[in-house]
Amino acid sequence: MVPSVAASLREVVRGSVQSDPRALEPFRSDRSHLVGTPSAAVAPLDSEDVVALVRWARRHRVGLVPRGGGTSLDGESSPLDGSVVVDFTGWNSVLEVSPDELWARVGPGIVNLDLQRILRPHGVFFPPNPGSWTSATIGGNVGTNASGPRSFRYGPTRHWVRAVEAVLGTGERVRLGSLVAKRSVGPDLLSLIVGSEGTLAVVTEVTVRLAPVPARREGLVFPLPEGLSLGAVAVRLRSTAETGLSAVEYLDRASAETLADRRAVDWPTDSALLLLEVEAAGEAEAARRRERLFEVARSCGVLGQPVVVADADALWTQRGESSVALDERTGQRIREDVAVPLGRIDELLARLEGIAREARIPYFLFGHLGEGSFHPNYACDPAGPVGDRVRRAVLNAALSLGGTVSSEHGIGRLKREFLSQELGGVAVDLLEEVKRRCDPDGILNPGKLYPRTRRKEGGRPSRSPSGSAGGRARPRSPSDGPADALAHRARRRHGAPP
Ligand SMILES: Cc1cc2nc3c(=O)[nH]c(=O)nc-3n(C[C@H](O)[C@H](O)[C@H](O)COP(=O)(O)OP(=O)(O)OC[C@H]3O[C@@H](n4cnc5c(N)ncnc54)[C@H](O)[C@@H]3O)c2cc1C
Repeated sequence: MVPSVAASLREVVRGSVQSDPRALEPFRSDRSHLVGTPSAAVAPLDSEDVVALVRWARRHRVGLVPRGGGTSLDGESSPLDGSVVVDFTGWNSVLEVSPDELWARVGPGIVNLDLQRILRPHGVFFPPNPGSWTSATIGGNVGTNASGPRSFRYGPTRHWVRAVEAVLGTGERVRLGSLVAKRSVGPDLLSLIVGSEGTLAVVTEVTVRLAPVPARREGLVFPLPEGLSLGAVAVRLRSTAETGLSAVEYLDRASAETLADRRAVDWPTDSALLLLEVEAAGEAEAARRRERLFEVARSCGVLGQPVVVADADALWTQRGESSVALDERTGQRIREDVAVPLGRIDELLARLEGIAREARIPYFLFGHLGEGSFHPNYACDPAGPVGDRVRRAVLNAALSLGGTVSSEHGIGRLKREFLSQELGGVAVDLLEEVKRRCDPDGILNPGKLYPRTRRKEGGRPSRSPSGSAGGRARPRSPSDGPADALAHRARRRHGAPP
């Protein structure tokens, strides 16, 4: 037990330590409905400080929650009671840019859009552009393997990280990845860190991979008629060559109207919308590609006149605002991020709509049509029984169609119990073994990602190859470390039975 967390922390770290409840308020949640009470927030000065912090946390068995912009949607950066938040927003420097070799070394706290602005004069960019790019950081993007509209062409953050420097939950420093263009030296450990939600290591530096800025980019916004097969549109756009497409996005009518009500937009507002981005080497190629896309769209039944948007980045910032506009209209809600293979899109959309009909609640849908990835939004209390039923129904629908419970946002606290269902028990066992090696005391972002209890498959406890249930005394589940100890203390504080 730590007598005074802040006083004890100040003895080991040189960076600022905050423990005043008002100062801690912004760290109590992310963009989910989950709220916790951290015991302190630390802004480490450098990686020495991070090592000292991790050693301190091991000694006192206190959880650490690495945090960037705090824009997570499933509780990835929302702390459990008693944890210490590690605030990286001050680590926002670009340390080195190599436009020739297409990489940049950056602090994990740099905001995605700020990095893009700094890179622009060099003629290069970092392709992942989540809707939250005005406040989400590169460390957070790595933590959740974030992606945005342009992942249709460029893929998620995982494809755009060349190396990281990090401190494991043991206090060991590690550099994973390399600057060489390709390497065949064993399995890719760097990839384990991407998407690990701060549960394996605290990332102190990221070397991102960059792409050359295309000579020309433009947006096209098509109004969509009712009753169209969106699955057919996605398949046609994905499989047609020579279009230069880098993004294929969808907004349903309710979302488009909500956005238009609250923000100025330059496109039709009385129908669902298809938003495309097209890259080209110059005006002649852009015109050819535009014509080609008009033809493809017509052949799928998209007959309305498109609007051409010259500034594609402005289009994506506006598209990102659709979520914020819904926040303003509906307040807290269920907002999921499921994906299915393109051939199952129409079935998924019918199921998602059916869930809203059955629950009799307003429903909004937008997402990354070209990747079969959607954000169904249901206007109901996400913490209430209806919200819980709706969330489960959505995630089960995606899984039953061969899809995923998270195409972008991560697992966090809200989807832990779906991990075994999606990955399978053996894969979850492997993941838990990795977690135990990297973070033996379970201090890194406790209560996130890993299932709450030891997995069961087919109703039986998991077994070691020898057939015994474990074979030796196994450490508890990675989620049962300080997370539970802290929760226990919190329960005691609030007078509830332990
Ligand atoms: C309006 C809105 C739109 C969004 N649109 C998208 C979208 O289009 N695509 C998408 O993928 N997501 C989207 N998101 C979700 C979210 O913005 C992303 O997951 C983003 O990557 C989170 O970045 P962040 O800096 O806010 O990270 P945080 O929320 O602070 O942290 C995210 C995770 O990364 C870990 N982490 C952060 N920094 C470090 C570090 N230095 N070392 C180790 N771990 C660390 C945290 O512990 C946490 O688990 C959206 C969210 C909002 C609110």
